[in-house]
Amino acid sequence: LPTRIGWIGLGLMGYPMATNLLQKLPHTEFYVFDVMQDALDTFVQAGAGRVHACASSKEVADESDVILSMVPEGSHVRAVYLTATTGVLASPLHSKILLDCSTIDTETSLAVRAACATQHPSARFYDSPVSGGVRGAQTASLTFMLGCAADDAHIALLTALLGLMGSNINACGGASLGLIAKLCNNYCSGLVAIATGEALNLGIAAGMDPRVLANIFHTSTAQSAILDDWNPVPGLCPEAPASHGYSGGFRVQLMRKDFGLAVETARRVGARLALGEEGLKVYEGASGDARCRDLDSRVVYRYLGGRED
Ligand code: NAD
Repeated sequence: LPTRIGWIGLGLMGYPMATNLLQKLPHTEFYVFDVMQDALDTFVQAGAGRVHACASSKEVADESDVILSMVPEGSHVRAVYLTATTGVLASPLHSKILLDCSTIDTETSLAVRAACATQHPSARFYDSPVSGGVRGAQTASLTFMLGCAADDAHIALLTALLGLMGSNINACGGASLGLIAKLCNNYCSGLVAIATGEALNLGIAAGMDPRVLANIFHTSTAQSAILDDWNPVPGLCPEAPASHGYSGGFRVQLMRKDFGLAVETARRVGARLALGEEGLKVYEGASGDARCRDLDSRVVYRYLGGRED
């Protein structure tokens, strides 16, 4: 495993992911960058001398053998990799490995990969998005979706490294297919969150106790990870963001982004999504609603039910 790791983006996901590497690789030096000085300072302090704050993404790349990024959107990924003098590709990058774990559009990811291949033929860029949420990041149980073939030259290294942050490492077949897998997953889980929220709201409106209803779903055909681990009703699942004011999960604006990317992808490849436009409207509405904005995406339950609780 590399002895010098670079990390760019220490937000809700990036911070706990990088913390797992820090704890599990006691002889590795870390070079990190985030535009938020606070996140950077906290991680440097946690690193007890092994974490070095950098002034730019380029500096991270200069100092590291493997560079990982975890930033919100395609525009941020372009900034991190392609900015003329301070981006990762401004570094010499001899034989280095670049892993972008952000969930972004495939066009941006392929553009960064192509720029890397042209400017630095010995380096390799991979899309490597994740699923499992903040809890999965904290407990190193993330699912990784790697945009490469199962027999990729770096697969053993990638599996070992990502295995320190996750429990399921999947080679998805080729460049940008990690992102396709992630967008398909979030399209599905976004719809399940809407369906679960609507069904619970329906039961409550008709006089049912949501706890009784959720217990029935659990042993019936409406069972899902959303119901069991991310239940949208406050108090039903003690660990779910809903039980903590919908804080600390997957921001509803990020779900709107992923849902929109899935709908765009479907249009591009000619796949029919009967609920795509409808679902997108729900996440757009919730993202713009003061009661829901910046909260965990399962807050759609509150949005759809017109609830304040
Ligand atoms: P976040 O907003 O909490 O963190 C993003 C971090 O990136 C912030 O600290 C921000 O300051 C930093 N950043 C932004 N632009 C930067 C730049 N140019 N250079 C350096 N740092 C920069 O977001 P998050 O919840 O950690 O999500 C990150 C990505 O992971 C997103 O693409 C999201 O869709 C995906 N994701 C999130 C979850 C989740 O549950 N939160 C789950 C799976 C995947």
